[in-house]
Amino acid sequence: MQTKVFDMSASDDAHQDRQRGGEIVYDDAAGRASLGNDPATQAATGDDPTTTKHKHEAGEPTQEMAGDAPQAAGGGVGCHAGADELRRAAEAAGQSELLQRLATDYPTGPHDQPQSMCPAFGSLRVGLRMRRTATVLCGSACCVYGLTFTSHFYGAKRSVGYVPFDSETLVTGKLFEDVREAVHKLADPAKYDAVVITNLCVPTASGVPLRLLPKSIDGVRIIGIDVPGFGVPTHAEAKDVLAGAMLKYARGEAEQGPVQAPREGPSSKPTVTLLGEMFPADPVGIGMLLEPLGLAAGPVVPTREWRELYAALDCAAVAAIHPYYTASIREFQQAGRRVVGSAPVGFEGTAAWLDAIGEACDVSADKVAAAKNGVLPSIRKALAEAPVDGTITVSGYEGSELLVARLLIESGARVPYVGTAAPKTEWSNADLEWLEAQGTTVQFRAALEQDKAAVDAIKPDLAIGTTPVVQHAKQQSIPALYFTNLISARPLMGAAGAGSLAQVVNAALASRTRFDRMNAFFAGVGDGDTAGIWDRMPEPRATKRAAAPRRAASKTARVENSIADDGGDA
Ligand code: SF4
Repeated sequence: MQTKVFDMSASDDAHQDRQRGGEIVYDDAAGRASLGNDPATQAATGDDPTTTKHKHEAGEPTQEMAGDAPQAAGGGVGCHAGADELRRAAEAAGQSELLQRLATDYPTGPHDQPQSMCPAFGSLRVGLRMRRTATVLCGSACCVYGLTFTSHFYGAKRSVGYVPFDSETLVTGKLFEDVREAVHKLADPAKYDAVVITNLCVPTASGVPLRLLPKSIDGVRIIGIDVPGFGVPTHAEAKDVLAGAMLKYARGEAEQGPVQAPREGPSSKPTVTLLGEMFPADPVGIGMLLEPLGLAAGPVVPTREWRELYAALDCAAVAAIHPYYTASIREFQQAGRRVVGSAPVGFEGTAAWLDAIGEACDVSADKVAAAKNGVLPSIRKALAEAPVDGTITVSGYEGSELLVARLLIESGARVPYVGTAAPKTEWSNADLEWLEAQGTTVQFRAALEQDKAAVDAIKPDLAIGTTPVVQHAKQQSIPALYFTNLISARPLMGAAGAGSLAQVVNAALASRTRFDRMNAFFAGVGDGDTAGIWDRMPEPRATKRAAAPRRAASKTARVENSIADDGGDA
């Protein structure tokens, strides 16, 4: 039995949307699929959980495999070669189109690349969070070690498959065979909906052609993505690489016929898909804001399950809460969905967002006004009850930096600088304009040096930032909060978000005297000559410098003596 849901695009272009494949038809039978989370990949490989067995060890390749293995044209350039060389190798390997698309989706500048962890961590994390999804990395062992270490450090309870290579398997195309074999071994429909295989820097530069992998094996989707550090600037954008690839695949499936319904069944109301990871309470809060408009919050993309991708596509509009999901937005637009930037943060942010959502979903002005009248007073009250007084710099790589700055300003703080590792996009314009109107300087693709220079120049009462920015501020007795752990771990949206930041921010602002005391206590310790652990008191530098000319003089004397001994004459 199939459930045909109404086309949830409430736009004027609904007819065009249908023509473009915007309609989603759910299959009720498929909706009863198991919830089983995957066990470790070792069950599929029968092997070490962190590695997919190398083909050389697994047995001889079949004739068919050996015969059609595409050779890597990049010539096996190593990751130590640097980004420029890898880029050149990738072009030589026929990857120009991929590089061009990455450059368009994730533009760099004003400098090359913000300091960030390996970008592939973003896509790896998205895959590891999805139910019934296997993730496999193809890259240098050191890269894979770092990525798996970091993913488990952040609490991943899933195995990461790995297809290793050496220069021979890379240049002969044998690596592609190994990848294909690993994918075939893993693709068990009882365990997985999808297998995600990610080319890291070297296989991307060498042109290992993941596009030639089968699109599905026994019903298990095979998603191959290239996430090179020389093409994807930040791990935040790498999340979009995988989310976009999955949405593209799911859109293709929905165009072919019925697809799995959401686990709780299709929504009875038109939904708004939420783009970008957020605190778990925020989708609930957004749902409450949408309710008076006759709308509901849809899935959050990146999704936690394959079937949610269909429900995400089956929306009235998309809220680009994180504005840098360029590839994902492209898929939504291809499906005929409207996209709305910014988010319901603070009083003004919520009012503007409800207007924009109402317009995108063709909700009457009266209804939007009633919704605003219902919610805005409580947000104003929450902001007034939790004021923030201080000068704060904000920097981070999450993509929500502008939203946090808006909320802080509406809470009463002065925010003269916002640095974000994310690029400027069409969907960040509303927040950029609002912040600039408040006198805030916004630096997209901010480098660590720019963030630190802002702290030095502004001398804020509080610096919110990445780990090195926090360290830089604390060394100057400036209270600082780590963005990812302390700011992103709080609701930002609606009334719940209005007062939530104030608690942690005010506690940090009040700690200034504690930092002064700590700095006074540790003054002169752990810096310069006094850094490290020594078995005796280090000699002051001045003594060493004074000793240096004596050593130099004695060395000169030794050289002169040796020349004299040899009978030399300069
Ligand atoms: S995959 Fe590329 S960016 Fe990531 S750690 Fe390896 S060399 Fe660096």
